[in-house]
Amino acid sequence: SKETILSRHRTAAEEVVSDHTQLYIGGEWQDAASGETFDTLDPTTGEVLASVPRGRAEDVDRAIEAAWDTYEREWSETTTSERQAVLLEIADRVEAHSEELAKLETLDNGKTLMEARIDMNTTAEQFRYFAGVVESDRGQTEDGDGYHGKVIHEPYGVVGQIIPWNFPLAMASWKLAPALAAGNCSVIKPAEQTPLSLLRLMELVDDVVPDGVVNVVTGYGEEAGAPLSKHEGVRKIAFTGSTVVGKQIMRNAADNVTDVTLELGGKSPIVVHEDADPQAAVETIAFAIFANTGECCEAGSRLFVHEDVADDVLEGLIGAAEGMTVGDPLDEATDLGPKVSHEQVERTTNYLESAREGGAEFLAGGEPPEDEALEDGCFVAPTLVEGLDHEHEAVQEEIFGPVLEVFRWEDYDEMMTLANDVDYGLAGGVITNDIEKADRTAHDIEAGYIWVNTWHEMSPGLPYGGYKQSGIGRELSVDTLDHYTQTKSIKYGLH
Ligand code: NAD
Repeated sequence: SKETILSRHRTAAEEVVSDHTQLYIGGEWQDAASGETFDTLDPTTGEVLASVPRGRAEDVDRAIEAAWDTYEREWSETTTSERQAVLLEIADRVEAHSEELAKLETLDNGKTLMEARIDMNTTAEQFRYFAGVVESDRGQTEDGDGYHGKVIHEPYGVVGQIIPWNFPLAMASWKLAPALAAGNCSVIKPAEQTPLSLLRLMELVDDVVPDGVVNVVTGYGEEAGAPLSKHEGVRKIAFTGSTVVGKQIMRNAADNVTDVTLELGGKSPIVVHEDADPQAAVETIAFAIFANTGECCEAGSRLFVHEDVADDVLEGLIGAAEGMTVGDPLDEATDLGPKVSHEQVERTTNYLESAREGGAEFLAGGEPPEDEALEDGCFVAPTLVEGLDHEHEAVQEEIFGPVLEVFRWEDYDEMMTLANDVDYGLAGGVITNDIEKADRTAHDIEAGYIWVNTWHEMSPGLPYGGYKQSGIGRELSVDTLDHYTQTKSIKYGLH
């Protein structure tokens, strides 16, 4: 019931929400210069979890100053093995506190506890991976015909990092681990919807990370994010979020010719071939679209299923969607938690409305879940939509919810033309038991990450990032260090 959920969430909040929900600058907890704050809410109950400072340009200035001070005084002098030790210790702390951090993430974001636990593993793994990778960044010498030279990689100094709300701590780790490994200091802005897990992490590693190496400025995008991306003291800006904002960040960064990496939206196609085992396909597809309540940039959100297996696959998918337990994300039995905010529910609902007007047939979902206990929360039912024109906005644009659009196909080339007919190119996937079909489709999809008979699985070492308007640059891999360092050639005269 509503009361049970409320009391469970209040108890959990008392247990895991820290008193330190302020700006973290130069190793100190501070209020915003303006003294203003805003509330971060629990999307399951609608209750306030904490209020955090509403950071603005002057706070960003202060954070950048603190970061440069530490960089010049201390961090730029560190050896790779010293930084490695810091990263390994961060990973250990995340692991030691993973249950508490997972609960906090569930409260602030709405993802299920199981999903939040996976995020905590990812977070620890990122710091460990880059602790190892940093040792591979050795530079090189070049002895050519009549010259001797060397190539070294130097950190940028201070980098700006802007984080979305869908994987709050995991996305912060994707950004912080390589930045610190490469020898930079960071000013990082969590999303206004989900600032708590990063603040708690900084509290946990306060004695491990030298003051000023990581500075957290909470606040809204326009007020705190934009000044960060425009600041001439920021030498590199890394962003994950919507394509619209990514473009703004690139424009802002242009003023100072600041390097940018962008990890933006997606509308990824799932291609099911005629030989696929329908049951196995259903499991993969349901996971591709419904994991994390569809709030994944790499979600498989357009299904292209071969006519020969379409009826079986769709029947199975309807069963899977209708069989999901939508509810309290702190309850271990829940499959699908709420979306992050009412604003995000409205965004999804508007797309569903527009799909309905566009002649869509709803095979499952389409309406809010009928459960009084959930009426204050940000819930959307798992939804399957068929019959939309591929040009429709609900197909072309990122919905970022548990909504899958279905298309049947017989002609491979026609299907592939549609599969690639979106502005995005983040991910894609193919379901088949035929290795040649798998390989052909993996090559044909215009995207940076392709799954064969699985989804969402990422490993440090496999670069992750988008084609087309899904972004610039790669994360999760050795390549990421290139995005956090600049290259210097030194040539010696041989006279
Ligand atoms: P957003 O892009 O506005 O927010 C992401 C981050 O950028 C937040 O920290 C936000 O404060 C910051 N930001 C916003 N405006 C900014 C600006 N002008 N300058 C600098 N930083 C700014 O995303 P949103 O509005 O929360 O969500 C809208 C849509 O974006 C979602 O529905 C979804 O389609 C997409 N999205 C994608 C991802 C992803 O991982 N690719 C993540 C979140 C949202």
